[in-house]
Amino acid sequence: MAKRRLVLTFPPSLVNKPVTYHLVKDYHLVVNILRARVTPEEEGKLVIDLEGSSDALNKGIEYLQKIGVHIQPLARDVVWRKERCTHCTACITICPTGALSVDRESWEVRFDKEKCIACELCIPACPYQAMEILL
Ligand code: SF4
Ligand code: SF4
Repeated sequence: MAKRRLVLTFPPSLVNKPVTYHLVKDYHLVVNILRARVTPEEEGKLVIDLEGSSDALNKGIEYLQKIGVHIQPLARDVVWRKERCTHCTACITICPTGALSVDRESWEVRFDKEKCIACELCIPACPYQAMEILL
């Protein structure tokens, strides 16, 4: 089994279509929606974990691209600008997944992209603009 965390951008024409249903039914993929921002008749965005065999994943991604969904890996989505971070820890209690945490030895803040679901809560919480979303 393989797993990909992806940001899907839907054009307005696809916002009301059962795209994730097809991924499950036709491609036998497990779809876990981590974040959704969908407004009727406007562009929609989903952050998902997609899980299945490598072959099924490739075919599911091909299907998405074919119908006009733009796909990018989540790893490029949220960025921690380490050089701007003062380790003030204002973001730590706000982050719901533990992606931002404090090293108890050095008291420095760390960012673990693997845990980040791009919820954006840290963006306004950071007084130094050290967290950025690249959508
Ligand atoms: S975007 Fe959300 S999950 Fe990611 S680091 Fe910020 S608060 Fe944590
Ligand atoms: S709020 Fe910003 S400056 Fe403070 S620890 Fe978090 S990322 Fe660093």
